[in-house]
Amino acid sequence: MSVAEQKLSHLTAASRFDLCCSGECIRTLFGASHITYNPRAEGCERMLKVLLHGACSYDCAYCDVRLQRERLSLSPDELAGTFLGFWREGLVDGLFLSSGIPRDVDLVMQELVETGEILRRRGYDGYLHLKILPGAARADIHDAARVANRISINLEATSPDRLGGIAGVKDYRQDILKRQAWMAEEKPGHHTTQLVLGAAGETDAEVLSCVADQYRRVRPSRIYFAAFRALPGTPLAVHPDTPAWRARRWYQADYLLRDYGVTPDALRVALDEEGLFANRDPKEVIAAGNAPVNVNTAPRRALLMVPGIGPKGADRILVQRRVRPFTGPADLARAGIRGKAAGRHLTFGGGETVQTRLVL
Ligand code: SF4
Repeated sequence: MSVAEQKLSHLTAASRFDLCCSGECIRTLFGASHITYNPRAEGCERMLKVLLHGACSYDCAYCDVRLQRERLSLSPDELAGTFLGFWREGLVDGLFLSSGIPRDVDLVMQELVETGEILRRRGYDGYLHLKILPGAARADIHDAARVANRISINLEATSPDRLGGIAGVKDYRQDILKRQAWMAEEKPGHHTTQLVLGAAGETDAEVLSCVADQYRRVRPSRIYFAAFRALPGTPLAVHPDTPAWRARRWYQADYLLRDYGVTPDALRVALDEEGLFANRDPKEVIAAGNAPVNVNTAPRRALLMVPGIGPKGADRILVQRRVRPFTGPADLARAGIRGKAAGRHLTFGGGETVQTRLVL
């Protein structure tokens, strides 16, 4: 393994808390090296995820890159050259590039952009996701948006107060929200963010307010949710881990907001008195409080709120019930719906069929 590949191996491991998929990021060895890639990432099948600098002068309490703990760095040339080698061999087809901030934010941001520019100049036309650093200059955000397919900045926490408790060096409004608004102008629909659930002690009600504000104001294409993990040697080393199911429930809630047209107010029904989700699909919780809907007459919006019915299933029901009404849970199979999950939230009366042949 070359020196650059050895450094890359460490810097890919250090990037594990930057998210680019909603599942657990599976890390796989390839070739003879220990360099890992993410096989279920956004935008491409095999995303190499790596930091340019493994050191940081910031002291975010949840992060093990903090305070210069890992001094390895790659230059833009080294990273671009090594990545291009893998790409030309057909080992990876996308790059997610982030960085610690060992010195001036502007210098590091310009190195991230420069890496992207080198890749493009040398013929790389694949997927490129560049991280925007807190406090980045508008001109660098503009350049990153030009060279990358997607850009992202990490919110990490739900509010200035919550971030202040775990990363006081960052100004939530100035360094993050203001930059995110610029990103939304430079790369509308192609920027993402992530939240670390549980690190700052926020409730799910606070997460919901934050997520709703994001979709209203800057419309990120995705919000990723990381369950907090206590890391040895950090100030939060003895803070309790957040159960993995909380992130899973948040991905389910996020789908409801983004793809099912559920309003934040409707989702609040799934919160308990302390503003927390139970370990149960929020759609199930909402449906349990609603009256069953008639599968043969309900509008699409109501069908979408039935557990087991997604956007495609709802569309198939709308088409098929015009030809032949559904008569019971077993009948839902012809629309590709599992009757067990959906059946108890549906009724099957009435319905009109369209005339499909002439009766003479
Ligand atoms: S700025 Fe990023 S890399 Fe640096 S300590 Fe904070 S979370 Fe870690």
